[in-house]
Amino acid sequence: MEIDKKKCVGCGNCHAVCTIGVIYLDEDGKSVINQDECVECFTCYRVLRNEGYPPWFVRATRKILSLFRLGYLAEVDVCPTGALTPAELNWPRSIRAQFSDPTTTHPGTGIRGRGTEEIKTNDVTGRLRRGEAGLVVEIGRPGTGAFFRDIEKVAVALAKLKPQFESKNPITQLMVSPETGKLRDDILNEKALSAIIEMKIKLERIPEFLHALEQIQKEIDTVTSVGMGSKCLPDGTIPHEEWIRKAGYTLSPNGKTNIGLGRPLFKEEGS
Ligand code: SF4
Ligand code: SF4
Repeated sequence: MEIDKKKCVGCGNCHAVCTIGVIYLDEDGKSVINQDECVECFTCYRVLRNEGYPPWFVRATRKILSLFRLGYLAEVDVCPTGALTPAELNWPRSIRAQFSDPTTTHPGTGIRGRGTEEIKTNDVTGRLRRGEAGLVVEIGRPGTGAFFRDIEKVAVALAKLKPQFESKNPITQLMVSPETGKLRDDILNEKALSAIIEMKIKLERIPEFLHALEQIQKEIDTVTSVGMGSKCLPDGTIPHEEWIRKAGYTLSPNGKTNIGLGRPLFKEEGS
Protein backbone atom coordinates (compact mmCIF):
# COMPACT_ATOMS: atom_id res chain seq x y z
CA MET A 1 0.00 0.00 0.00
CA GLU A 2 1.17 3.50 -0.69
CA ILE A 3 -0.01 6.96 0.26
CA ASP A 4 -0.15 9.63 -2.39
CA LYS A 5 1.46 12.55 -0.61
CA LYS A 6 -0.05 15.00 -3.08
CA LYS A 7 -3.47 13.94 -1.82
CA CYS A 8 -2.87 13.15 1.87
CA VAL A 9 -4.07 15.78 4.32
CA GLY A 10 -2.63 14.04 7.39
CA CYS A 11 -5.97 13.41 9.14
CA GLY A 12 -4.54 10.24 10.75
CA ASN A 13 -7.61 8.04 10.17
CA CYS A 14 -5.53 5.35 8.46
CA HIS A 15 -3.13 5.13 11.43
CA ALA A 16 -5.89 3.75 13.65
CA VAL A 17 -7.03 1.03 11.23
CA CYS A 18 -3.62 -0.29 10.15
CA THR A 19 -3.41 -3.92 11.32
CA ILE A 20 0.31 -3.64 11.99
CA GLY A 21 0.51 0.00 13.10
CA VAL A 22 3.02 1.02 10.45
CA ILE A 23 1.52 4.29 9.19
CA TYR A 24 2.96 7.43 10.73
CA LEU A 25 2.94 11.16 10.24
CA ASP A 26 5.98 12.41 8.36
CA GLU A 27 7.80 15.68 9.06
CA ASP A 28 5.70 17.36 6.36
CA GLY A 29 2.45 16.57 8.20
CA LYS A 30 1.44 13.89 5.69
CA SER A 31 1.21 10.19 6.35
CA VAL A 32 3.67 7.60 5.16
CA ILE A 33 3.75 3.79 5.32
CA ASN A 34 6.80 1.84 6.46
CA GLN A 35 7.11 -0.36 3.37
CA ASP A 36 9.34 -2.92 5.06
CA GLU A 37 6.68 -3.61 7.70
CA CYS A 38 3.44 -3.21 5.67
CA VAL A 39 1.93 -6.66 5.08
CA GLU A 40 -0.32 -5.57 2.17
CA CYS A 41 -3.46 -6.66 3.99
CA PHE A 42 -5.40 -3.85 2.25
CA THR A 43 -7.38 -3.22 5.46
CA CYS A 44 -6.75 0.53 5.38
CA TYR A 45 -7.91 0.72 1.77
CA ARG A 46 -10.98 -1.47 2.32
CA VAL A 47 -12.13 0.03 5.62
CA LEU A 48 -11.80 3.73 4.84
CA ARG A 49 -14.26 5.13 2.33
CA ASN A 50 -12.78 7.50 -0.19
CA GLU A 51 -14.68 10.71 0.43
CA GLY A 52 -13.22 12.13 -2.74
CA TYR A 53 -12.61 15.70 -1.59
CA PRO A 54 -9.92 17.57 -3.51
CA PRO A 55 -6.93 17.99 -1.16
CA TRP A 56 -6.85 21.78 -1.77
CA PHE A 57 -10.46 21.98 -0.51
CA VAL A 58 -9.67 20.18 2.75
CA ARG A 59 -6.54 22.24 3.31
CA ALA A 60 -8.38 25.51 2.61
CA THR A 61 -11.27 24.50 4.90
CA ARG A 62 -8.79 23.67 7.62
CA LYS A 63 -7.02 27.00 7.21
CA ILE A 64 -10.26 29.00 7.35
CA LEU A 65 -11.50 27.08 10.39
CA SER A 66 -8.20 27.63 12.19
CA LEU A 67 -8.75 31.42 11.95
CA PHE A 68 -11.71 30.88 14.28
CA ARG A 69 -9.77 28.41 16.43
CA LEU A 70 -11.83 25.56 15.01
CA GLY A 71 -10.44 22.31 13.69
CA TYR A 72 -11.24 20.12 10.68
CA LEU A 73 -12.18 16.61 11.75
CA ALA A 74 -12.83 14.01 9.06
CA GLU A 75 -15.32 11.22 9.86
CA VAL A 76 -13.34 8.31 11.30
CA ASP A 77 -14.29 5.86 8.54
CA VAL A 78 -13.03 7.89 5.60
CA CYS A 79 -9.88 8.85 3.82
CA PRO A 80 -11.15 12.32 2.90
CA THR A 81 -9.06 12.65 -0.24
CA GLY A 82 -8.61 9.04 -1.40
CA ALA A 83 -4.87 9.19 -0.80
CA LEU A 84 -4.44 5.47 -0.03
CA THR A 85 -3.20 3.87 -3.23
CA PRO A 86 -2.79 0.10 -3.71
CA ALA A 87 0.54 -0.56 -5.39
CA GLU A 88 0.98 -3.20 -8.07
CA LEU A 89 2.36 -6.21 -6.23
CA ASN A 90 4.97 -8.24 -8.06
CA TRP A 91 6.69 -11.35 -6.77
CA PRO A 92 7.97 -11.73 -4.09
CA ARG A 93 6.11 -8.81 -2.49
CA SER A 94 2.78 -10.26 -3.68
CA ILE A 95 3.20 -13.05 -1.14
CA ARG A 96 2.39 -10.51 1.59
CA ALA A 97 -1.15 -10.08 0.28
CA GLN A 98 -1.58 -13.83 -0.28
CA PHE A 99 -1.02 -14.41 3.45
CA SER A 100 -2.52 -11.21 4.86
CA ASP A 101 -5.45 -10.06 2.72
CA PRO A 102 -8.49 -12.27 3.40
CA THR A 103 -9.97 -11.29 0.03
CA THR A 104 -6.97 -12.64 -1.90
CA THR A 105 -7.22 -16.26 -3.03
CA HIS A 106 -4.03 -18.15 -2.31
CA PRO A 107 -2.75 -19.67 -5.58
CA GLY A 108 -1.44 -22.78 -3.81
CA THR A 109 -4.61 -23.72 -1.95
CA GLY A 110 -7.32 -22.11 -4.06
CA ILE A 111 -8.94 -20.74 -0.90
CA ARG A 112 -8.80 -17.35 0.77
CA GLY A 113 -6.54 -16.94 3.78
CA ARG A 114 -3.29 -18.47 4.90
CA GLY A 115 -4.20 -22.01 5.89
CA THR A 116 -6.02 -25.07 4.66
CA GLU A 117 -9.28 -26.59 5.79
CA GLU A 118 -7.16 -28.50 8.36
CA ILE A 119 -9.05 -30.65 10.81
CA LYS A 120 -12.41 -29.03 10.22
CA THR A 121 -13.13 -31.52 7.46
CA ASN A 122 -11.30 -34.46 9.00
CA ASP A 123 -14.40 -36.62 9.32
CA VAL A 124 -14.56 -36.60 5.51
CA THR A 125 -10.91 -36.43 4.49
CA GLY A 126 -9.39 -38.61 7.21
CA ARG A 127 -6.20 -36.57 7.23
CA LEU A 128 -5.78 -37.54 10.86
CA ARG A 129 -6.19 -41.16 11.88
CA ARG A 130 -6.16 -42.82 15.29
CA GLY A 131 -2.80 -42.53 17.01
CA GLU A 132 -1.98 -39.30 15.18
CA ALA A 133 -2.08 -35.64 16.17
CA GLY A 134 -2.43 -32.63 13.93
CA LEU A 135 -0.15 -29.80 15.01
CA VAL A 136 -0.85 -26.28 13.80
CA VAL A 137 1.61 -23.49 14.56
CA GLU A 138 0.55 -19.95 13.78
CA ILE A 139 3.40 -17.49 13.62
CA GLY A 140 2.59 -13.77 13.93
CA ARG A 141 -0.72 -12.05 14.56
CA PRO A 142 -2.33 -8.63 13.96
CA GLY A 143 -0.27 -5.89 15.54
CA THR A 144 2.96 -7.83 15.09
CA GLY A 145 3.05 -9.86 11.89
CA ALA A 146 5.87 -12.22 11.00
CA PHE A 147 8.79 -12.12 8.58
CA PHE A 148 9.25 -15.29 6.54
CA ARG A 149 12.79 -15.54 7.91
CA ASP A 150 11.24 -16.16 11.34
CA ILE A 151 8.66 -18.56 9.92
CA GLU A 152 11.57 -20.45 8.35
CA LYS A 153 13.34 -20.73 11.73
CA VAL A 154 10.29 -22.45 13.20
CA ALA A 155 9.90 -24.74 10.17
CA VAL A 156 13.59 -25.73 10.25
CA ALA A 157 13.47 -26.47 14.00
CA LEU A 158 10.40 -28.69 13.56
CA ALA A 159 11.70 -30.39 10.39
CA LYS A 160 14.58 -31.81 12.45
CA LEU A 161 11.97 -33.91 14.28
CA LYS A 162 10.72 -35.36 10.97
CA PRO A 163 7.01 -34.54 11.06
CA GLN A 164 4.79 -35.04 8.05
CA PHE A 165 4.23 -31.49 6.84
CA GLU A 166 0.81 -31.02 5.25
CA SER A 167 1.43 -30.89 1.51
CA LYS A 168 -1.57 -28.64 0.79
CA ASN A 169 -0.45 -26.02 3.30
CA PRO A 170 0.88 -22.76 1.76
CA ILE A 171 4.03 -22.76 3.92
CA THR A 172 4.87 -26.37 3.00
CA GLN A 173 4.53 -25.31 -0.64
CA LEU A 174 7.16 -22.62 -0.06
CA MET A 175 9.67 -25.10 1.38
CA VAL A 176 12.67 -25.91 -0.77
CA SER A 177 12.47 -29.32 0.88
CA PRO A 178 10.13 -30.56 3.63
CA GLU A 179 13.09 -32.60 4.96
CA THR A 180 14.90 -29.40 6.01
CA GLY A 181 11.99 -26.98 6.42
CA LYS A 182 14.05 -24.37 4.54
CA LEU A 183 11.95 -21.82 2.64
CA ARG A 184 12.74 -20.21 -0.71
CA ASP A 185 15.40 -17.53 -0.31
CA ASP A 186 13.53 -14.86 -2.27
CA ILE A 187 10.71 -14.58 0.27
CA LEU A 188 12.68 -14.48 3.52
CA ASN A 189 12.55 -10.69 3.87
CA GLU A 190 8.84 -10.54 3.10
CA LYS A 191 6.33 -10.15 5.87
CA ALA A 192 2.81 -11.51 6.53
CA LEU A 193 0.15 -10.79 9.12
CA SER A 194 0.59 -14.40 10.16
CA ALA A 195 1.32 -17.79 8.64
CA ILE A 196 0.42 -21.31 9.65
CA ILE A 197 2.63 -24.39 9.57
CA GLU A 198 0.62 -27.62 9.63
CA MET A 199 1.89 -31.13 10.23
CA LYS A 200 0.96 -34.57 11.39
CA ILE A 201 2.85 -36.39 14.14
CA LYS A 202 2.46 -39.48 16.31
CA LEU A 203 0.63 -38.73 19.56
CA GLU A 204 3.53 -39.86 21.75
CA ARG A 205 5.85 -37.35 20.08
CA ILE A 206 3.78 -34.34 21.17
CA PRO A 207 6.12 -33.48 24.11
CA GLU A 208 9.19 -33.39 21.81
CA PHE A 209 7.50 -31.02 19.39
CA LEU A 210 6.14 -28.72 22.09
CA HIS A 211 9.55 -28.46 23.76
CA ALA A 212 11.20 -27.71 20.40
CA LEU A 213 8.64 -24.95 19.81
CA GLU A 214 9.31 -23.45 23.22
CA GLN A 215 13.03 -23.30 22.41
CA ILE A 216 12.69 -21.78 18.95
CA GLN A 217 10.19 -19.18 20.19
CA LYS A 218 13.11 -17.55 22.01
CA GLU A 219 14.94 -17.00 18.73
CA ILE A 220 12.21 -15.33 16.71
CA ASP A 221 11.02 -11.77 16.71
CA THR A 222 7.27 -12.44 16.89
CA VAL A 223 4.71 -14.58 18.65
CA THR A 224 3.42 -18.10 18.02
CA SER A 225 0.26 -19.90 18.98
CA VAL A 226 -0.13 -23.64 18.89
CA GLY A 227 -3.20 -25.71 18.10
CA MET A 228 -3.51 -29.47 18.39
CA GLY A 229 -6.11 -31.92 17.13
CA SER A 230 -6.74 -35.65 17.27
CA LYS A 231 -9.58 -38.09 16.68
CA CYS A 232 -11.78 -38.72 19.70
CA LEU A 233 -11.76 -42.27 21.02
CA PRO A 234 -15.06 -44.21 21.11
CA ASP A 235 -15.47 -43.33 24.81
CA GLY A 236 -15.25 -39.62 23.95
CA THR A 237 -11.77 -38.99 25.37
CA ILE A 238 -9.41 -36.75 23.42
CA PRO A 239 -6.06 -38.52 23.03
CA HIS A 240 -3.77 -35.52 22.55
CA GLU A 241 -4.79 -33.95 25.87
CA GLU A 242 -2.96 -36.60 27.88
CA TRP A 243 0.27 -36.01 25.93
CA ILE A 244 0.08 -32.25 26.31
CA ARG A 245 -0.24 -32.67 30.08
CA LYS A 246 2.64 -35.17 30.08
CA ALA A 247 4.76 -32.52 28.35
CA GLY A 248 4.08 -30.22 31.30
CA TYR A 249 1.62 -27.81 29.67
CA THR A 250 -1.88 -26.89 30.72
CA LEU A 251 -4.67 -26.90 28.19
CA SER A 252 -6.49 -23.75 27.21
CA PRO A 253 -10.23 -24.01 27.90
CA ASN A 254 -10.85 -23.16 24.21
CA GLY A 255 -11.71 -26.16 22.12
CA LYS A 256 -13.44 -27.19 18.93
CA THR A 257 -15.30 -30.41 18.37
CA ASN A 258 -16.08 -31.67 14.91
CA ILE A 259 -19.14 -33.88 15.32
CA GLY A 260 -18.53 -35.73 12.06
CA LEU A 261 -21.65 -35.48 9.94
CA GLY A 262 -19.80 -35.74 6.63
CA ARG A 263 -19.58 -38.73 4.32
CA PRO A 264 -16.11 -40.22 4.90
CA LEU A 265 -13.88 -40.68 1.87
CA PHE A 266 -11.81 -43.23 3.82
CA LYS A 267 -12.16 -46.16 6.19
CA GLU A 268 -10.32 -46.16 9.51
CA GLU A 269 -8.36 -49.41 9.98
CA GLY A 270 -9.98 -51.73 12.54
CA SER A 271 -13.36 -49.97 12.47
S1 SF4 B 1 -6.73 8.72 5.90
FE1 SF4 B 1 -6.03 9.49 3.91
S2 SF4 B 1 -5.77 11.71 4.16
FE2 SF4 B 1 -5.94 10.82 6.21
S3 SF4 B 1 -3.81 10.51 6.84
FE3 SF4 B 1 -4.49 8.59 5.92
S4 SF4 B 1 -3.92 8.74 3.75
FE4 SF4 B 1 -3.78 10.81 4.59
S1 SF4 C 1 -2.04 -2.54 3.79
FE1 SF4 C 1 -2.34 -3.29 5.91
S2 SF4 C 1 -0.31 -3.23 6.86
FE2 SF4 C 1 -0.21 -1.97 4.98
S3 SF4 C 1 -0.61 0.08 5.65
FE3 SF4 C 1 -2.61 -0.75 5.05
S4 SF4 C 1 -3.47 -1.66 6.93
FE4 SF4 C 1 -1.29 -1.26 7.31
